[in-house]
Amino acid sequence: MKHYILFGPPGAGKGTQAALMVEKYDLRHISTGDLLRREIKAGTELGRQAAALIEKGNLVPDEVVEGMILSELEAHPDVKGFIYDGFPRTVAQAEVLDKMLSARGEAVTAVISIMIDDRMVLERIKHRALLENRKDDADESIILNRIRNYHAKTEPVIGFYKAEGKYNEINGEGAVEEIFGRILSVL
Ligand code: ADP
Repeated sequence: MKHYILFGPPGAGKGTQAALMVEKYDLRHISTGDLLRREIKAGTELGRQAAALIEKGNLVPDEVVEGMILSELEAHPDVKGFIYDGFPRTVAQAEVLDKMLSARGEAVTAVISIMIDDRMVLERIKHRALLENRKDDADESIILNRIRNYHAKTEPVIGFYKAEGKYNEINGEGAVEEIFGRILSVL
């Protein structure tokens, strides 16, 4: 089974590219952001707790997202593979994913990192705020906090996968199809 991780700062285009990969390779898309938003919409206790953090631009606790990943793995034993989007976002999450996969005799296949600079993160998310109704996209100070959290907590994940020899970085600037072409050339 393939396990591809789409990595990158908020608004890098992970969700868009994941959808294209799903179409081409018949993979199951796991977006922790989408799963959390589903919980919020359903009004669950987990959703209520997550909303308070997400709306401030903070990360949800590792155990919460790790639990969601495990349920997804267990719910889809027959797929060709998974594409993880927005996970792992901390080194602790990356370590847990390695453990969950090795318990199944599997491993991360490759990490594809879609890179854009902070200025473009801000620009892209402000644009997305006009198209989608996400509270965490609507306010500049929340976006800036997400960028801060990305550098402090998520960026160290790069070193983790570099050490495993699984890290591939592509330029996230340009047209959607152009970026997809870069992903295909890495895979
Ligand atoms: P973006 O496009 O901004 O990267 P996501 O949809 O991936 O947005 O995530 C939205 C929010 O959900 C994040 O800002 C964070 O609060 C929470 N979240 C998503 N994935 C994780 C994760 N793996 N660990 C902790 N929090 C997460």
